[in-house]
Amino acid sequence: MLSPLNTPLVPISLDGGSPIYAKLEYLQPSGSTKDRLSFFILGKAIRNGTLKRGQSVIEASSGSTSISLAMVCAHLGLKFIAVMPEGVSQERIKSITAYGAQVVLTPASEGILGSLSMCRKLAVEHEGFLPRQFENLDNARAHQTQTAQEIAHELGTQCIDAFVSGVGTGGTLVGNYWGLRDFGCPVSAVLAKPVSRQLISDVECCSFSGKIPGVVDGLSTIYREAKIDHLIEIEVDDALAIDTTKKLMKKGFPVGPSSGLNFAAGEILREKHPHLKTIVTIFPDRMDRYFSTPLFAQ
Ligand code: PMP
Repeated sequence: MLSPLNTPLVPISLDGGSPIYAKLEYLQPSGSTKDRLSFFILGKAIRNGTLKRGQSVIEASSGSTSISLAMVCAHLGLKFIAVMPEGVSQERIKSITAYGAQVVLTPASEGILGSLSMCRKLAVEHEGFLPRQFENLDNARAHQTQTAQEIAHELGTQCIDAFVSGVGTGGTLVGNYWGLRDFGCPVSAVLAKPVSRQLISDVECCSFSGKIPGVVDGLSTIYREAKIDHLIEIEVDDALAIDTTKKLMKKGFPVGPSSGLNFAAGEILREKHPHLKTIVTIFPDRMDRYFSTPLFAQ
């Protein structure tokens, strides 16, 4: 049975400064870190009988989670309906339908909230299973019990001072923070917060509301309710996030824009908080999901 991979953790320096460790989650089977939550949530639901073969799984997502759920559902013999706002990139829609899943588009003007309410409607109609990635703590637990363990084992006795990530559902930041704290390290959770300068329009760049696809503000119940007690917020200008994404590509890392956001936040953190020596971040997804977006316009 396919399962999430233990992805490499590599030290990277773009500017000659001390390296920041990046976990290459774009190497997961479906191309993103969302395979963690897909396998974890669906596997658990099948084991405890709340999800049966042949049943429909329904989720709202800007793309990465839907692509991952489509792949995992294909493996598990489940139907999948992806609900997304109009304007998501064609690459995403084609990836999902290639796995045999169905795509339902909701009006762009209603954003993710429109998709979430359509999800609930479809769940009643189809007696479907809702993974509820924005609220389900198992999203964070997948990272707590897998991603964070892999990072801690890779770094051995070295304590991790900071884990950096943007927040979409919050699963990555909250779960890794919990998991690394479980090891007894005084790790801080670092929220990489994109500051929008209207570089890329919402509809063009397949995001729900922000300019860095997958990273959104204010939707995550997981993040809000986790009440992280060691939190540092780092604001990153969109243009810097995109520029860093391109620099990472030139270094041979086939990453999407949220990886550039995360890495840029790590670099700012390193400068502002020099006592935080071992900084770890995550590269959530791959560049080929963005070929039709303005990121590749020139
Ligand atoms: N990057 C990308 C490309 C994503 O799709 C997402 C999640 N939608 C994130 C980052 C944020 O991760 P999380 O949902 O775990 O907060």
